[in-house]
Amino acid sequence: MVVVMDERATEAQIENVVARLVEMGMDVHRSTGVTRTVLGVVWQGRPDAGIIQLLDGVHEVLRISEPYKLAGRTFKPESTVVKVGDVRIGGDEAIVIAGPCSAENEKQVRTTAAAVRRAGAKVLRGGAFKPRSSPYSFQGLGEPGLQLLQDAAKAENLALVSEVMEIAQIPLIEKYCDMFQVGARNMQNFGLLRELGHARKPVLLKRGISATIEEWLLSAEYILSGGNTEVVLCERGIRTFETATRNTFDVSAIPVVKKLSHLPIVGDPSHGAGRRDMVAPMARAAVAAGADGLIIEVHCDPDRALSDGAQSMFPAQFDRLMAELRIIAPAIGRSICVEPTPRRGWGT
Ligand code: PEP
Ligand code: MN
Repeated sequence: MVVVMDERATEAQIENVVARLVEMGMDVHRSTGVTRTVLGVVWQGRPDAGIIQLLDGVHEVLRISEPYKLAGRTFKPESTVVKVGDVRIGGDEAIVIAGPCSAENEKQVRTTAAAVRRAGAKVLRGGAFKPRSSPYSFQGLGEPGLQLLQDAAKAENLALVSEVMEIAQIPLIEKYCDMFQVGARNMQNFGLLRELGHARKPVLLKRGISATIEEWLLSAEYILSGGNTEVVLCERGIRTFETATRNTFDVSAIPVVKKLSHLPIVGDPSHGAGRRDMVAPMARAAVAAGADGLIIEVHCDPDRALSDGAQSMFPAQFDRLMAELRIIAPAIGRSICVEPTPRRGWGT
């Protein structure tokens, strides 16, 4: 951080600012120019630039390094590969996670899981605890839903990710799934993030509805600083003034995150677009922009889905999309599910 003093700052004001910075535990390097004094500040943790800005004689406070550390490329220049079951996210292969928004019943989960595996998905998604805007909407099946998802994932030889909404659900999700999903609404649930920092399974951290990329990376920092280094970021669209789509899918966040952070990032064009006819173009864009994978809602009968039916793809649409992605990915030096994973059978 650099503190630029006012041209008319008195010596007493400069000394007062230096004393306050030292009191805050910072190392201060003073340099006196022809017109101004500039203070170079080396700090631990995150200084409150707002307080320093208000001290008498201060002209401007400039931050020159990121507020997050463990999530940044400065700290770890090489890209991180996260293992989800036997699947690696962040390597040469872009990974597709797919499945229903929510687990509803055995037939729906099994049929959808079989369809997404055949098309080339490597990870099954599905919610058993659903964060719904209305308390009257379907809230998920809870533990029986996790059981249905686990049975289907095992039978189809897929890894499994499901959303955790509260600290109390962590042991349950950990027991049934290979990865925790933290939803957009919980991106800044700091208590939950801290607990997940102590968990031993990877976390898919969705971007909050109105979160900046910096806030999102700081949320990842909560998990990383607890000792869990396995975090995958997920761009799922942000809320803007536009109403034509459910959210605005921020494709540019993908290269921005790739530059700032070593963590893998996947795109969620389903929540990004909110309508199934817009999902494929956004999915293609995300892969072309360098995403390490996608998470896509697919339902065997989307028009009867209990949640997010309008944005859930029909299996045949998903099949077509996967074929298109197999053309796009190699153009930017990636592969994408050349061979579907063999199924394992109806195991338990
Ligand atoms: C979901 O994945 O079904 C979901 C609720 O996503 P988000 O948290 O991005 O809204
Ligand atoms: Mn959903």
